[in-house]
Amino acid sequence: RFPIRKGDGLEVIDAWRVEHSHHKSPTKGGIRYSEMVNEDEVMALAALMTYKCAIVNVPFGGAKGGIKINPKSYTVAELENITRRYTVELVKKNFIGPGIDVPAPDYGSGEREMSWIADTYQTMNPGQLDALGCVTGKPIALHGIAGRREATGRGVAIAVRECVSVAEDMKALGLTPGLAGKRVIVQGLGNVGYHSAKFLAEFGAIIVGLCEFEGAIYNEKGLDIDEVFNHRKASGSILGFKGAQKEFKKSLEGLEQPCDILVPAALENQITEENVVRIHAKIIAEGANGPTTPGAEEMFVKQGGIIIPDMYCNAGGVTVSYFEWVQNRLGFKWTRDRVNRRSDRIIKTAFENVYKTSQEFNVTMRIAAYMVAIDKVAQTYKYRGGY
Ligand code: GLU
Repeated sequence: RFPIRKGDGLEVIDAWRVEHSHHKSPTKGGIRYSEMVNEDEVMALAALMTYKCAIVNVPFGGAKGGIKINPKSYTVAELENITRRYTVELVKKNFIGPGIDVPAPDYGSGEREMSWIADTYQTMNPGQLDALGCVTGKPIALHGIAGRREATGRGVAIAVRECVSVAEDMKALGLTPGLAGKRVIVQGLGNVGYHSAKFLAEFGAIIVGLCEFEGAIYNEKGLDIDEVFNHRKASGSILGFKGAQKEFKKSLEGLEQPCDILVPAALENQITEENVVRIHAKIIAEGANGPTTPGAEEMFVKQGGIIIPDMYCNAGGVTVSYFEWVQNRLGFKWTRDRVNRRSDRIIKTAFENVYKTSQEFNVTMRIAAYMVAIDKVAQTYKYRGGY
């Protein structure tokens, strides 16, 4: 907890950083800026980071941060103040550093916040050559890496492409193999949702629905993601978009429209036991962390659906964060092409490993993902003499 100046007075901000596992160092994970953030949530998300990193062979332990504010209620100067003070607290407590714990963007934060963190850390550690490796997701001008911005969404699209290429699974779902013509609904027009939609469309899918917190829009013939994005930017709302056939004031109704694939790319607990029965999609690709509740997952799988779990579906972000951290330590720039090729291959391999395990043990892809990831973490502990 730390105070900041707000208007004429002071406000005390609640914030957390959780490190879940030190089986590998440094620890890694984003910082969430949200009014809804709480300690339990940050702890759960830190654990997910441990397994996410393990599954894509990124050599980090899991961590997560949270700042309990609604960024929209603060000026840019106040946000900068909060972020810099948070960083100072992390430095004081030894919770940040290229070899200690490396934050990144998450819900409500982006390149701007990462710049403030990097600058604060670097100022407090003069002469440290790899100081900028204390945080990833930085702008390219501040030693960020080409391709990090779109990395999570790109990974989501690659994971979906792999999943729909398995002909016998698609047959069981009544679908044809391949992404061409598949109807997709995306929840969230933030960094992950926007880029997931962009790449899925580039790979041949049709984006029929888009949902944001003020509402949702639908067009069975397809929506142009950039046009919707610009409309929302100009008008402040996704509603009122000329190219939509239907619009819904209740955003969650948008998830229940006809489609083949649903990409929740906003927050956790969006697909619940209550609304899962009304979902048309046969495939849920988890762009967000934890968007499907366990009860909803059980029902969806019983209905014959496939869930591509967050653990590798959205691991493209942390994978490219790893490249950025390596780049910062080497002082050498990677090309966008190299970044994309490597991260695509990593997500593809993660899918293949998880898929094989799910077939072998006849379990869902989420259980299989945990099996693969926990085994890797346990191996590291074992060789370090933990057991
Ligand atoms: N916040 C992202 C996640 O949940 C990225 C983490 C990172 O790049 O370290 O995976």
